[in-house]
Amino acid sequence: MTAQGPYQRVILVHYHEIGLKGHNRSKFESRLLKNILGLTSGYPVVTVHKISGRLIVFLKEGCTSDDAHACASFIARIPGVARTSSGFKCPREMQDIDQAAIAALEEASPFQTFKVAARRAHTDFPIDSMTMNRDVGAVLCEAFPLARVKMKEMDVEVRIEVVQNAAFVYAFSLSGVGGLPVGSSGKLMCLLSSGIDSPVALWQMARRGAICHAVHFSGAPETSDASEFLVDDIAHVLEKTGCIASVYTVALGTYQRRIALECPPPLRVILYRRLMFKVAEQLARSCGAKALITGESLGQVASQTLDNLCCTDAAVAMPIFRPLIGTDKQEIITRAHELGTFAISTEDAPDCCTLFMPRSPETHAKIPQVEEAEQAFPEEEWVAELVDAATCKVYAQPR
Ligand code: ATP
Ligand code: MG
Repeated sequence: MTAQGPYQRVILVHYHEIGLKGHNRSKFESRLLKNILGLTSGYPVVTVHKISGRLIVFLKEGCTSDDAHACASFIARIPGVARTSSGFKCPREMQDIDQAAIAALEEASPFQTFKVAARRAHTDFPIDSMTMNRDVGAVLCEAFPLARVKMKEMDVEVRIEVVQNAAFVYAFSLSGVGGLPVGSSGKLMCLLSSGIDSPVALWQMARRGAICHAVHFSGAPETSDASEFLVDDIAHVLEKTGCIASVYTVALGTYQRRIALECPPPLRVILYRRLMFKVAEQLARSCGAKALITGESLGQVASQTLDNLCCTDAAVAMPIFRPLIGTDKQEIITRAHELGTFAISTEDAPDCCTLFMPRSPETHAKIPQVEEAEQAFPEEEWVAELVDAATCKVYAQPR
């Protein structure tokens, strides 16, 4: 809430996995820098610089601590960010560091206990970190007479990082989502429903650095297009942190009707799903994606028994990534809440999954039996028609 004072407001962006990437490190850092710059246009960001082991986000003059903290919490949700800290950049002079520490601690109120933790990235700075901790600590005790220094389990940690030409001082830090910057791990194609699971699955792979395209199958023209709108809402949530590149929409209803008419009812769901996977694989190839993602979780529903998962796997040559395969529904729900997609996913909308469902779906399908049932329709032709008719919407991604 306090005014900025004489020092420039900055956000320090910490990352860890990137630090492990050897000679690729600088590529990963540049990717993260571009992503942060591209995604923060709605925030008072002037520029982003690389310093050793950190990115520094420079904020506009005159922005408040609330602006800075909001920006820090937004950046913390961008894949690749392990932690963000909101504070100040100041000259490498003790009186400046003292003043910046007072300003930083003031913003961390209310608090009762604190400690100072200083670090010198360059030992050319004449004062060692122990001395800085002690001296800045004494200045802060004087400025905040009710506060106490505490070495463990303190309310606030005032951090000082002295680098080559400047010092950074902050007392406000947030954990980030971690992972790798989007754009550092290739392209994937996610089968995205408007349900709870698949947005979480997509996000988990985006957090591993993948550029994620998606395909949604609606039940149109047999159902309304409500699920398409929900998927668009979900994509807008994922778009904020650069986690989705595009969504293809495919109307499956007519084809489901034909499967329902011509094939044994217990196999319907598996046949719908094999058709979906084949279309997804073609669309993936067309946009350079090398694997599919689904939100499947072992045993969650009839189509996700081990035998049935094997039957859908056998429909395509591409690897299928199922990041939630060993995750309980409750854990997925918690992640969907954190991600901000849960409320959208619990809105009711019919899609291809609710259409022409059999009374008792097969839970242990055998591949030869399924392949035989598929002989009843011209599948290759259908896949080509569905791929041709797919529409595509592109979402904002930093380049
Ligand atoms: P979700 O699993 O996303 O909550 P759901 O529970 O409605 O949705 P399931 O029957 O569990 O869907 O389907 C398993 C997976 O198949 C989904 O996680 C998703 O990857 C894919 N899938 C299901 N329905 C669709 C659809 N209409 N369009 C695209 N992919 C779908
Ligand atoms: Mg599911």
